[in-house]
Amino acid sequence: MKIKYKGNLLKLAYQSVVFALLFFMLIRFWLDKSYTPDFEAYCPFGGLQALGSFLNLGSLSCSMTTMQIMMGLMLLLAAALFSKLFCAYICPLGTISELTGKIADKLRIRVKINESVDGPLRAVKYMLLFATLYFTLTSSELFCRKFDPYYAAMTGFGSDVVVFYALIAIVILLAGSLIFRLFWCRYLCPFGALTNIFRYFWWFAGLSVIYVALNAAGLKIPLVYPLLAYAVSGYVLEILRMNRVSPSPVRITRNEDTCTSCNLCTSNCPQEISVAEMKEVRHIDCNLCGDCLHACPEKDTLQINRRNIRWLPGALLAAMIIAGLILGSVFELPTINVKWGTEEQLSQAKTIEVEGLNNVKCYGTSVMYSDRLKEIEGFYGVSTYVGKHTVKVLYDGTLYNDESALKEMLFRLQSGVEE
Ligand code: SF4
Ligand code: SF4
Repeated sequence: MKIKYKGNLLKLAYQSVVFALLFFMLIRFWLDKSYTPDFEAYCPFGGLQALGSFLNLGSLSCSMTTMQIMMGLMLLLAAALFSKLFCAYICPLGTISELTGKIADKLRIRVKINESVDGPLRAVKYMLLFATLYFTLTSSELFCRKFDPYYAAMTGFGSDVVVFYALIAIVILLAGSLIFRLFWCRYLCPFGALTNIFRYFWWFAGLSVIYVALNAAGLKIPLVYPLLAYAVSGYVLEILRMNRVSPSPVRITRNEDTCTSCNLCTSNCPQEISVAEMKEVRHIDCNLCGDCLHACPEKDTLQINRRNIRWLPGALLAAMIIAGLILGSVFELPTINVKWGTEEQLSQAKTIEVEGLNNVKCYGTSVMYSDRLKEIEGFYGVSTYVGKHTVKVLYDGTLYNDESALKEMLFRLQSGVEE
């Protein structure tokens, strides 16, 4: 029995909400110059890099907070358990690549990349992932901001952007997606590479256990080696097991008895996966976007886990986002947490919290604030929380016994702390 093609409204709704929010932020910024938009407020990749730099250096990257970290962890968990739902439903670059591709389809200028080129090209995103993670985890600055086309476009080529790199990235994003299907996502996106590594979760977990065990045994293994191992093995697994991601508890299934081989699922798959030739889709590029399900005209033929639950990936994504938002608002990690007092000074130090320091907004300004504090007698340490523009300062209570005067002084100390 034939069913009418209605389009993938759930995916469209997610994509529209993301773009509406970004548009709202831009308009508000344009109308209200005192408003500072944070286009990375929920950036999962930035959050994961910040978590890495926290584990390696004890400080968060740039303006990242626990919110982005929790979003990143939830979306990685989603990738390991289900699929790359962020890529399918939320990523603005993915949406732009898809739209550009649709224009190319209308103009009939699409070119299919040959398999012999596809394999080597897939290595590029793992190289970018390695470089991005290595430089971020060893500096607490988000290296990807230098070339990220999203960050460059939304901030109007902000201060961290290397204009030349970003322009090249924007041209590749648009021109690449116009000629080849999802060129950026498949070959260049470092977050795509990271989520792919998590699709082979047991391998990633095994490597991590070995690294932790070797360090616990006293072997100080430089960070570069585990990062290289993740990147190289991720690429090798993607090439060798491209069609065999497992476990894959949520997957697209095709009923061969009712399938008429019309090929609509394959031609509507943004990832160019040959859905019509598969009994179940376990391809590394499948992100459960659901486009194939909506394209199939036959009832009970293309399904999720042989059931009519096409809403499931969208619902799972909503659950992961809500969990990330809740966890991100409950826990809080400091951007920096530095102490320079002696053991005795620290044991007797008092703590004061000062809010509203708008100039303390990232790793760089946190370090500047702490450097200024170090020059003043009677201060022994500081933690900064850039999401709330708050600092917690360790001080000598015998030198400063007027709390409100001290707060005033610490508030004034932020002047001159700017990037
Ligand atoms: S196979 Fe279906 S769900 Fe997977 S990416 Fe292609 S269209 Fe989306
Ligand atoms: S599963 Fe694909 S090929 Fe088979 S009927 Fe549905 S759209 Fe056509």
